[in-house]
Amino acid sequence: MVRKMKEQYFPQEIEKKWQKVWEENGCFHTPNDSSKPKYYALSMFPYPSGKLHMGHVRNYTITDVIARFKKMQGFNVLHPIGWDSFGLPAENAAMKHGANPAKWTDENIAYMTKQLKMLGLSYDWDREVTTCKKDYYKWTQWLFLQFYKKGLAYKKEAAVNWCDECATVLANEQVIDGKCWRCDSVVKKKYLSQWFLKITDYADRLLADLDKLDGWGDNVKTMQANWIGKSTGAILKFKVTDSPYGDMEIPVYTTRPDTVHGITYLVVAPEYKDIEKLTTPENKEAVEAYRENARKMTEIERLSTERVKTGVPLGTHCINPFTGETFPLWTADYALAEYGTGAVMAVPAHDERDFAFAKKFNLPIKIVITNEEKTIDENITEAFTDEGFLINSNEFDGMKNTDAKKAITEKAEKEGFGEFKTQFRLRDWLISRQRYWGAPIPVVYCDKCGIQPVKEEDLPVMLPEDVDFSVTGKSPITTSKTFQDAVCPVCGGPARRETDTMDTFICSSWYYLRYADAKNSEKCFDKELADKWLPVDQYVGGIEHAILHLLYSRFFTKALKDMGLISFDEPFKNLLTQGMVLKDGSKMSKSKGNTVDPDEIFENYGADTARLFILSDSPPARDFDWSDAGVEGCYKFLNRVWRLVSTNRNNIIFDYQLPEKLAKANDDLVRNVHIAIKGITNDISNEFQFNTVISKYRELTNAIYDWTNQTKWTDEDKQTFSFAVISLMKLMSPVAVHLTEEVWADISDGKSSIHDQEWAKWDENLAKSSSITLVVQVNGKVKDKIEVDESLEQEELKEIALNSEKIKATIENKTVVKTIVVPKKLVNIVVK
Ligand SMILES: [Zn+2]
Ligand SMILES: [Zn+2]
Repeated sequence: MVRKMKEQYFPQEIEKKWQKVWEENGCFHTPNDSSKPKYYALSMFPYPSGKLHMGHVRNYTITDVIARFKKMQGFNVLHPIGWDSFGLPAENAAMKHGANPAKWTDENIAYMTKQLKMLGLSYDWDREVTTCKKDYYKWTQWLFLQFYKKGLAYKKEAAVNWCDECATVLANEQVIDGKCWRCDSVVKKKYLSQWFLKITDYADRLLADLDKLDGWGDNVKTMQANWIGKSTGAILKFKVTDSPYGDMEIPVYTTRPDTVHGITYLVVAPEYKDIEKLTTPENKEAVEAYRENARKMTEIERLSTERVKTGVPLGTHCINPFTGETFPLWTADYALAEYGTGAVMAVPAHDERDFAFAKKFNLPIKIVITNEEKTIDENITEAFTDEGFLINSNEFDGMKNTDAKKAITEKAEKEGFGEFKTQFRLRDWLISRQRYWGAPIPVVYCDKCGIQPVKEEDLPVMLPEDVDFSVTGKSPITTSKTFQDAVCPVCGGPARRETDTMDTFICSSWYYLRYADAKNSEKCFDKELADKWLPVDQYVGGIEHAILHLLYSRFFTKALKDMGLISFDEPFKNLLTQGMVLKDGSKMSKSKGNTVDPDEIFENYGADTARLFILSDSPPARDFDWSDAGVEGCYKFLNRVWRLVSTNRNNIIFDYQLPEKLAKANDDLVRNVHIAIKGITNDISNEFQFNTVISKYRELTNAIYDWTNQTKWTDEDKQTFSFAVISLMKLMSPVAVHLTEEVWADISDGKSSIHDQEWAKWDENLAKSSSITLVVQVNGKVKDKIEVDESLEQEELKEIALNSEKIKATIENKTVVKTIVVPKKLVNIVVK
């Protein structure tokens, strides 16, 4: 037979060759029907921004190695990819260069697809989904209609987050520290009529079910729990005594009903819905001016504890049903319309913000809680927020304040001016966007019939193409001559089409379901297929999605389960959030100029080196520091592996048979292989510790090289070598996907692919290192000989020696001066 394998490693050549073969043979196509158990490995799908960056390379390599490992372990593995392709960059590029967002997106997808293939990823490309294509967004719109039917999608006028730079509203989750998640501009408040999804209906379940997610890190679960923000307290109602508009009542949410006897004023948000009715004519002008001012401020500014408190009185008063006292009503911007009921009962003695406000405006401070450690009186210089017992609180005096919360709310409930209330910080999800490049919200407005959903059979509502992208200050979609005119589905009269499009986070809230049945044109997906493949067994992506995509997807899954579309209620069983790729200590970014172009690495070293390197430095969850020397080192290692095979190619027997009894050197090598199989399998199974997997590749390669230095190439030697090399190839095949395939094709004479092989198995007895005879001396004289495991460390050998019965007897009543350990040989104990 003619040897095909070249002496030298040419990754560029073999990688292209195998990528073509895999594609032509449909090697990574996943059948829905299989007798094997299923395994769903998923990376968060990319936005087609133009080019892959190293963060992508890391994310997709991690998932790919997991997918390949599981496949070799006997699973029917689903490992799909797609494009989160609606969104602002495409539209901004269109505005800047006059390009069409669809064309810009298609070109980027084409380029990035080429890059993903160059990386040798095992995707089932038949299941590719692209969210901006009508075969996908038709179903995004259809799902919107299902939410609408269930009362989970609604339109309301609200103070919403507005980003000037992006010229659109944002969801609360997309405002990070008062800034836009995408462009970092400071977010403003605007009053707009917008579409929302009622995620708050699911707040309780989203919180409670975090306990089910054993395969998620505590960090993400804590972030979600804090964002959902459950608190327990009470709603208390206060009658207004002197509103010019007659009887009115103000409900207040509080987590401190125990302090109700200490209320000295009440604050409503400047946006409070009834604020005009609560304002006396004399105060109207000042209140209006104040509200106008508040409108211009960001939430962060308003809630800042550093800022001097501002506010104006409304002129009206409330009565405290517990004391019969009346107190004044104010408006102040530290109360927010969206939180609680938009009104705050102010107890300056026991709340820091209220205290600062009362001091500024000379409002009374009434102490109702105290404890033994502190003497407090009306002259306190800060709010008393510790626990204690009640005073000045009528029949509740002397009660512990923690108990009083319940007792006071019970009284309010009995007498009809309050009730227990659980509240969440989570707000409904604002999904309208005043932009073009998104899925149009499928509703029309009829003068006669009001808001009407588009009929399902009329989906998709297509994005218009006759738009002017050069407009500013409004959505380009509104420039279309054809889009807005519609027919009312109820009365057949003229109607106006909704011009807002959906937040792209809607598209990504269900894409993982579509992969189960990506080409279905009749349904968003078949229920049976979704139930078969989902939940995702291993999800891999960035932590930045902790309370965005990962929360929205959980909400979608629960809502879709309630609609009967699926049977499970959590989408992702295990979540791995990979660390960042750093260079020179900071995150790779264009603005810092510290990026490394994956294309260059592929070209200079090949994809296998890139894959090996990106996994080698640290565990996946940790940040990873790029080093050119590290890349070079990985390339050298692959060359070394290649040479190990190519120079000894004639000594490889593909169908090797290991004899039962082996010579010592061969037995040692076989044991080293079993130790490596066991170690590598455990490292991958246990939180994907790929960095230690790669050091084990190196150790085993070194052991095989050492062995070749002493071999005489007897038949037994050849069998042993073949076993070692073939095992090494299998172990390395999920990472060095091309190199191992090339070797496999050569040694198997082209009969099979290494990627269809079973994962290597180890023998527990052989996976132990061989034993040695440890000699134990006392003052230089041999006193004992003990059989011990070869791999033991110095400290362990010392301990074994000192615990030997013979040694204990010898050194009884003597003092150990020192202990000398010669690894793998002897321990000498010096006594006097
Ligand atoms: Zn922005
Ligand atoms: Zn109508």
